[in-house]
Order: sequence, then C-alpha cells, then structure tokens
Amino acid sequence: MRITKVKARQVFDSRGTPTVEAEVHVGSTVASAIVPSGASTGIHESLELRDGGTAYHGKGVTKAVANANAVGRKLVGHKYTQKDFDGYLERLEGDRHKHLFGANADLALSMAYCRAMAQYHHVPLYRHVASLCGKKRIQLPVPAMNMINGGMHAGTRLDFQECLLYPKGRSFADMMRTGVEIYWDMKAALKKKYGPLATNVGDEGGFAPPFDMIEKALLFLDGVVKGRAKIGLDVAASSFYKNGSYKLCGKKTDTAQLLRLHERIINRFKLASVEDPFQEEDFVSFGQLLAKVRNKCLIVGDDLLVTQTDRIQWAIDQNSCNCLLLKLNQVGTVSEAIDAGLLAQENGWKVMVSHRSGDTEDPFIADFACGIGADFIKSGAPCRSERVAKYNRLLRIEEEI
Ligand code: PEP
Ligand code: MG
Repeated sequence: MRITKVKARQVFDSRGTPTVEAEVHVGSTVASAIVPSGASTGIHESLELRDGGTAYHGKGVTKAVANANAVGRKLVGHKYTQKDFDGYLERLEGDRHKHLFGANADLALSMAYCRAMAQYHHVPLYRHVASLCGKKRIQLPVPAMNMINGGMHAGTRLDFQECLLYPKGRSFADMMRTGVEIYWDMKAALKKKYGPLATNVGDEGGFAPPFDMIEKALLFLDGVVKGRAKIGLDVAASSFYKNGSYKLCGKKTDTAQLLRLHERIINRFKLASVEDPFQEEDFVSFGQLLAKVRNKCLIVGDDLLVTQTDRIQWAIDQNSCNCLLLKLNQVGTVSEAIDAGLLAQENGWKVMVSHRSGDTEDPFIADFACGIGADFIKSGAPCRSERVAKYNRLLRIEEEI
C-alpha cells in the first residue's frame, strides 16, 4: 500500500522543549510518532536540528518540521519496506550524522512509518519490529528504573547521573510492583532523613536529594532496597570531564583514580551495571574496567557508542563493553537502530533500550524493546507519565503475549 500523506508538526517534550511529531498516512491508516531529546548528549550523536534565533530560546524545531514535510512530499505515492524507507532518508541526507534535515526530522518519519505499517497489517507494533529484526520470539525486557537523579538531570552536587534498580520478579508486572514499592520506600526514607524537599524529582522522575558522593547515595539506596533489586549506575562521565581530567565532588580526578573508584563500588555494592564509566572517547579505559569485572557487572556504552554501528564495532574489537545502550534518536532511523542492536546481540552483548531525559507520551521504545528482544529497558522512575507510559505499554504487551 502506498503512502498517501505525510504531515509533521512541532509539539513539546517533558521539559517543555519543542520536538518533532510526524504523521504518516498509508491508505486509510494514520499513525504518528514523537521524537525524544537528550540533555547529556554524546558528541557523536546524529544531529538534532534546532532553529536558533530567539523563539523558544533557539530551541524551536520549525526547520526540522519543514524538512520532514518536504521529505514527506517526496514519499507520497510510493511504497517501501522499512529498510527501503529508511535507506531513502539516509541517501537524501548524504551523511550518517544527518546534517541536512536533522535526525529529529528523519526519526519522526521513520517511527511513524513503522507504526503505520504495523497498523496497516493489523499486527501489534512489537510483532512488526520483531519481523523487521528477523525474530519470532517476543521478549519482555527487565526494567532499569531510575531512583536517584544527579549530573545534568538534577542540578544537585551529585556528579554521577543515575542510580538505577533492576527489580526482582518473575514477570514484568511483578518487577514493576517491586520497583514501585522500593520507589515509595525511598521517598519515605528520604523525607525522614532530609525533609520533604529531598523528595522532589529530577528530569527522569528519580529523586534528587542532597547527596554529593556517589558512595553515600549508594549506601542510602542499598539500605532501602534490602536485596529486592540489583543496583546499577549511569556515570555519564563525559559530563564532568574537562581539559583532560574529571572533576568529582569539586576535586580533580584522573582516569586511574576513577577506575579504582568504579572497581571499589562495583564490588562493595555488587553493582549489576555501570554505564559510561569514562568519557566518550576512552574505549581503552572502558576495556580495562570490563577486564576487571567481566563476570559480575555489565559495562554499558551510551555516549561512547551513540547507537552507531561503526563505534559499536570498535568497542567489540577492543573489548570495551558488554552491553549497548540503544537510543533511536542517537542514530536517526528505525533500521539503523535495529542494525546497531543486532550487531551487539550477534557479539554476545546485552542490549538496553533507553528513553531520553526529555521524553514524550510516545511509548514506541516499549514495543521496540520487545521486538528486538532487548534484555533491559531504561525508562526512568515509576513516576511522571512520559516515563510510566513505556512501563504501562509493557504491562499491556505482557498480558497480550
Ligand atoms: C542517559 O544518559 O542515558 C540519558 C537517558 O540521558 P540523556 O537523554 O540526557 O542523554
Ligand atoms: Mg547514559
């Protein structure tokens, strides 16, 4: 069936920042999708095109919307597989980082087309994604739930960006229950120790209490968790790396010291995962940490890999990671994100599909995670509707399958 109409518009994400929504019509089927946006973005991510100027302090996306509409006019009257659709966008762009139209324009079109084709064929989106991945089995991911926000997501003195939980449970619904109960227990414990202000939440719905050192945050969290979940971290080390060294708690810290800190906290708190433990160019230090903790902890590449197959291949060659953080807007099309996930899986890595800190009501990544057979989904705390939308969608998928 041919594409009959494409329409893009400017809408808003969870921070009130403009973002791109696209609507694709295939016959009488209409589907739309909205693109999320990061704060601690990797320098190698595909381009998120913003208008500049004064409106919305330069953050408008009217140019990206106009680009999506212009590309949309070329798409009308044609029919494509998802690969051909995305390949066409990539060829029009001419460079993999999408400097012509913007990855926000491309991804809105790509996700909306993916959803439209699922609807057109009367299959749930997760099954459609699974067929694009060549998979028969639908796998529910384990939620990686944010509990403490720091770094660029909170504005507190905690340099590390996220403390996460992998709640125990025999089903997704069970894990949600564990995660939610721990989240409430955390809220009560923070209120008791630091007062009600400490229960305010950051961009991803996790708490932003007045911790400074990561070990204090982990000690507090561990005391609340009481064995009901494994704990993980997103260090987002690039966000406190400047002029060749890290600045932790106001103190200059070199790579060797940071490596020792990671090893110490992984062992002390039996951490299940550490994401971006070093800055986004340091494949070697990632590999050194992985060599020390390989059998007990996942070393997750986010800013390091930016969901791009060339960087994932470098990390495979150098043994830098054993888990890919997969964010669709880091690369810009559904097909390229699938290629990234499959490359990681073929090499024995785990895959964690992720939201962005500026996210929306669109639960696309929940279906995507099930379709690609991701091991984990990182969608923030069980708080704030743009975060919970993904978890709620997964509850419905679990019921269906
Ligand atoms: C992350 O770093 O993993 C994250 C979700 O944050 P952002 O979207 O700000 O990159
Ligand atoms: Mg990250």
